[in-house]
Amino acid sequence: NCVQELLELDKKYFLHPTSPIKQQQDQGPSFIFTEGKGIMLTDIVGNTVIDGMSSLWNVNVGHGREELGKVAMEQMSKLAFSSCFATFSNEPAIRLAAKLAQIAPGDLSTTFFTSGGSEANDTAYKLARHYWILKGQPNRRKIISRTKSYHGVAMGSTNATGLKPFREFTNSFDPDFCYADHFSTEDLRCVIEAEGPDTIAAFIAEPVQGAGGLHVAPKDYFKEVRSICDEYGLLFITDEVITGFGRTGKYFGIEHYGVSPDMMCFAKGITSGYAQLGGVMLSKNIHQDLMELSTGTLLHGYTYSGHPMACAVALKNIELIEQEELIANAEKMGKEMLKGFHWIQGKCRIIGKVKGLGLMGGLEIVKDHRTNESFETPVAPLIVAEAAKRGLICRSVVFDGQDTVVFAPPLIINREELAKLLDILHETIVAVENEVLH
Ligand code: PLP
Repeated sequence: NCVQELLELDKKYFLHPTSPIKQQQDQGPSFIFTEGKGIMLTDIVGNTVIDGMSSLWNVNVGHGREELGKVAMEQMSKLAFSSCFATFSNEPAIRLAAKLAQIAPGDLSTTFFTSGGSEANDTAYKLARHYWILKGQPNRRKIISRTKSYHGVAMGSTNATGLKPFREFTNSFDPDFCYADHFSTEDLRCVIEAEGPDTIAAFIAEPVQGAGGLHVAPKDYFKEVRSICDEYGLLFITDEVITGFGRTGKYFGIEHYGVSPDMMCFAKGITSGYAQLGGVMLSKNIHQDLMELSTGTLLHGYTYSGHPMACAVALKNIELIEQEELIANAEKMGKEMLKGFHWIQGKCRIIGKVKGLGLMGGLEIVKDHRTNESFETPVAPLIVAEAAKRGLICRSVVFDGQDTVVFAPPLIINREELAKLLDILHETIVAVENEVLH
């Protein structure tokens, strides 16, 4: 039958991104999704599951939004593609760049578009280095990022990623990339001093670390980061690829910390995943310096920078986020989600720390929350597998000795849907706890 045929074709022809290679080869995909509506996904054999991860932290407005399909079709029928290189432009890209200047924090005002988050990060590092060349300080090449960070898989963003397995995978140990402890501004200062401030171009950080295990920085962390960057003259870049466009209960995650960056990377939620789009925003000062000091050509650009269809979808997506007040909903439902996690924690033994901001949440798994002792083998992957069987998609993080389950449901989630998600999670944790503790 068709399902069997697709499973076999998948195993034979489709090399999956970020996947357990052997398991993928032996078993094929666990779900072949065919439809989505709201927070739900349906697969080819009719299983319906709650998308507790907004797929990859990105389907902010939920699945099956016909408004976005309609805009994409209209734009593609009118003008599917034209270049933005040199002096060419198109209306959706122009209007989107203007809209971003209106909603972005601080004085971020000018946008360079990419097709996703990895490209956005590589672009930010390259523009930062070019900036220092123009300023007569070409030795400022190094990028400092944080432990437990994830910035993508292009060559620069792989090197910036603090999670070591991603770098080991391709032997990526570029000495121009260094790492400071993710919560310690003291360590950031030490790394800057050790490397030499006049060799460093920029410091990059996710306002809330997602893929690295859901880490919310201490309250004053980014204020101190901002002042350290100013003190040593480094550019401060935020990676809002996950935290942008309402995910944390504010438009951008850094707004929780009352500071603004010199550059900001974004992707994912800007189109809710309906089209491939990312980018980097530059502050007024950086942009002005670039304009005043540049004499040659900006030798960096992707074919799809400013793709008209992707930009038209982004504009409509932002309109939906605003009209439906999804940022306020993320804040409200995020608080409910955390409350639910704490309630489950009180009923079980294996949930240690509960973490979250807006609709990003994480549960650390331990043998016993009274002692915080870890399991010898991580249990989070088992919870993820059992939750999927019961109708809930979530993700595990096991890097750096972590054992964490993470969640990021669509921003449209309502009380009843959240209650259902928490019910399934509770049932799953109880079942797994019985299995691993007895
Ligand atoms: N930056 C962060 C914080 C991310 O979480 C991701 C992807 O998950 C990326 C960058 C890379 O984005 P992309 O997968 O669109 O290249």
